[in-house]
Amino acid sequence: MSVPRFWREIPQRYNLIGNKCEICSKVYFPPRESCPVCRRKSIGHIKDLKLSGKGEVFTYSIIHVSSGEFEEQVPYPIAIIKLDEGPMITAQIVDCDPDCVKIGMRVESTFRQIQQDGYTGALYYGYKFKKV
Ligand SMILES: [Zn+2]
Repeated sequence: MSVPRFWREIPQRYNLIGNKCEICSKVYFPPRESCPVCRRKSIGHIKDLKLSGKGEVFTYSIIHVSSGEFEEQVPYPIAIIKLDEGPMITAQIVDCDPDCVKIGMRVESTFRQIQQDGYTGALYYGYKFKKV
């Protein structure tokens, strides 16, 4: 990932900021420019929304083979989480053995180090999820 893109996405990564269509009430994460349901009508009617970070595991997979920085962490669970506000989000589940993850398990977001750049030593942070 390029550095400019990373920095541009920082508010979303740190705070789980999505947005909501005021016409149909659908919530989007990542935020969208316009609502695909309401299309042109939604222009000017999409407002930022800070998501609660709470939701449940919709489905998950255990990663057994990874590369680079993530190699030391295997096996680890990656889940598709259905947030309480509606959007689906893919994230790593932390503080949980691979066999503790269950479909429907309640989870909440937690702010964690994602990776360390081996060359510059820069630390990247973002959201992961843990069992409630
Ligand atoms: Zn809409």
